[in-house]
Amino acid sequence: MNKAERERSRLQREQIRRRNLRIIKLLGIGVLVIIAVSLFASALSGFVSSSEDQNSSSGQLNISIASSVSVAPDPTPLPEPEDPRLSDPLLVLVNSENPLPENWQVTPKTIAGEEQVDQQAYEDLTALLAAASESEVTLWIASSYRSVDLQQEILDRAVQNRISQEGMTEEEALEDALRTINRPGYSEHHTGLAVDFNDVSDDFEETEAYRWLEEHAAEYGFVQRYKKSKVKSTGIDNESWHYRYVGKEYAQEMERLDLCLEEYRDYLKSHPKSA
Ligand SMILES: [Zn+2]
Repeated sequence: MNKAERERSRLQREQIRRRNLRIIKLLGIGVLVIIAVSLFASALSGFVSSSEDQNSSSGQLNISIASSVSVAPDPTPLPEPEDPRLSDPLLVLVNSENPLPENWQVTPKTIAGEEQVDQQAYEDLTALLAAASESEVTLWIASSYRSVDLQQEILDRAVQNRISQEGMTEEEALEDALRTINRPGYSEHHTGLAVDFNDVSDDFEETEAYRWLEEHAAEYGFVQRYKKSKVKSTGIDNESWHYRYVGKEYAQEMERLDLCLEEYRDYLKSHPKSA
């Protein structure tokens, strides 16, 4: 091999080496590109999957909200179906805590001359008075239906009297008057279903008329509303003269169970009529 041949073969080797280097470079670039692409792809898939996670986690959020809504205890549980007797107007409760219902309607009927009662009580009260009379028992109606307006007039007059005659302040006069006069709207007489008999005094309890009522009032749908034994439930002292019409069926059951109206309503709540 001469010098020229050696030079040629050296150049050829040099060319091969350079070509190989190029190939290696290209391969390296190719590998780098592949790595870069796969990294990008995996980053992209990571992004996609993380956004899926976000979706699914927000989905979980939705589910947990939905489940918390369905699992959380209902703040206002549906009330037990109420015994229909409790909304019977005959059993309406009007006392110091329960005013006359706003939609209450009285259809006043004049009885025994000048007093008025609601028509629901009229027939049975007429029969009661007739039966008492037949038994030669002296019984008359001292007071029955009283409108809220009339009660207000009575109270206003009592307050004015105390201010002008006894020198009380308006506040003192009102407080004093409310000891004996029901606050307007809170008297059972507004219902048209309450009746005061005879002279409206404690002495009534000693009369033959009272004994007759004890025995017969329930037969005509009336109950003594404020008894000595029920002061705790009614909040009102014994009133032997004040009777309340509830109808024969309720009156006789209240009598049998020895329950006043407050107690009887509680009894109906705990013993609802089965449908
Ligand atoms: Zn009364």
